Amino acid sequence: MTDTIFALSSGAGRAGVAVFRLSGPRAGAALLVVTRRDRLPAPRRAVRISLWPPDGGAAIDHGLALWFPEPASFTGEDVAELHLHGGRAVIAAALAALGAVAGLRLAEPGEFTRRAFARGKLDLTAVEGMADLVAAETEAQRVQALRQMDGALARLYDGWRERLLRALAYLEAEIDFSDQDLDDEATAGVRSDVAALQQEIAGHLADRHRGERLREGLSIVILGPPNVGKSSVLNALTKRDVAIVSALAGTTRDSVETHLDLDGLPVTIADTAGLREAADVIESEGIRRALARAEGADLKLVVTAATDWPALAPETVALLDSDALLVVNKCDLRRDAAAIPSRGDAISRCRAVHWVSATTGEGLADLVAALAAAAAERLQPGGAPALTRARHREALLACGDGLARFLDQPAAELAAEDLRLAARALGRITGRVDVEDLLDVIFRDFCIGK
Ligand code: GDP
Repeated sequence: MTDTIFALSSGAGRAGVAVFRLSGPRAGAALLVVTRRDRLPAPRRAVRISLWPPDGGAAIDHGLALWFPEPASFTGEDVAELHLHGGRAVIAAALAALGAVAGLRLAEPGEFTRRAFARGKLDLTAVEGMADLVAAETEAQRVQALRQMDGALARLYDGWRERLLRALAYLEAEIDFSDQDLDDEATAGVRSDVAALQQEIAGHLADRHRGERLREGLSIVILGPPNVGKSSVLNALTKRDVAIVSALAGTTRDSVETHLDLDGLPVTIADTAGLREAADVIESEGIRRALARAEGADLKLVVTAATDWPALAPETVALLDSDALLVVNKCDLRRDAAAIPSRGDAISRCRAVHWVSATTGEGLADLVAALAAAAAERLQPGGAPALTRARHREALLACGDGLARFLDQPAAELAAEDLRLAARALGRITGRVDVEDLLDVIFRDFCIGK
């Protein structure tokens, strides 16, 4: 028998409501004990309850209880929910009361979802989608996460896997029932199906990491010589009235990064000006770090000053390419500069030139609009669902390798093994890896031994 687990499912700290969740075979009995009721509420109907301490005494709080008998619950097990007032003392007393019920223990992190997965309520991509939904900071991230949680990726990968299993079942049946070698005609259909699938997977992979980038944010780096106003431009960009600064910076993120929400798309601006202190101490190390950042970035904001225009430092010219926006700052100091043509063709290599003034705010709205457009180009969720994790990419590459080996393999038995490995790689993404499915397909399509 599995344990019965409980936890505070809403956020810790003061709030209007705190939600506690119980899951497992003793969830119903525990609900009766802590609410001192003699029967369970009707399934999925909220009832008013009082929560009582285990050792007698006055009620801890009044609230609501819900009862979700298995299998129609989040975990697929018996689940009970208690909605109480979200005060620290209420939460502490409620956790103590639940902990005192025999057979109940506090849940481990992620344990409810893990049980939901174990009971087939969610596949792995849905689990990831749910985690992303809780972590989503911008609108586009929310849309992508909800889509994944609702099964968009799982349907795609399960569909592909089903096609592979079907091809495999056909091949196995041919191997089992043919006396001689397989004739080419019999396997030609399988080969063309596999080749088509290989194309689809390659197309899905060639998405310039759209889904992964949307999860992590488009990375932009600000570069340029000292004193041109890099810090000032970043500060001006992150002012509330220009762009929305994302409220939450994750703990793993770099402290010199600023997070922006541009029309619902997450953007991370790395401030290499923030590396300047390091550059003062060990100059070459600071510059090395700035350039390393530039290489990893999706977009570069290369800043120069209008007072120097049209001269550009050689280091600046070296940074100009199709992923660069040249930002000519301090345009308030030289009104005539924009009229002076630039030298050389370096400028024509970059994406655009923006004349701005961090001091007056001139040109900043256009710059933000250009950044939003660049972010949309690279991140905007399109029609087809996008893979969102390196884990998906690795499994799809492994699957593609298996398909390529299959197409190169003349011996039917060995070729079948390649297909099996390819199907297993797909199954790893959603967490479906058992052989039972293969048997299902075989029996359904071929009625062997009717
Ligand atoms: P960084 O070294 O590139 O990060 O440059 P800073 O942001 O520290 O700015 C260098 C100097 O230029 C500071 O004194 C700023 O006040 C000034 N500055 C920055 N942007 C502008 C601007 O648009 N117009 C004017 N007039 N001064 C600016």
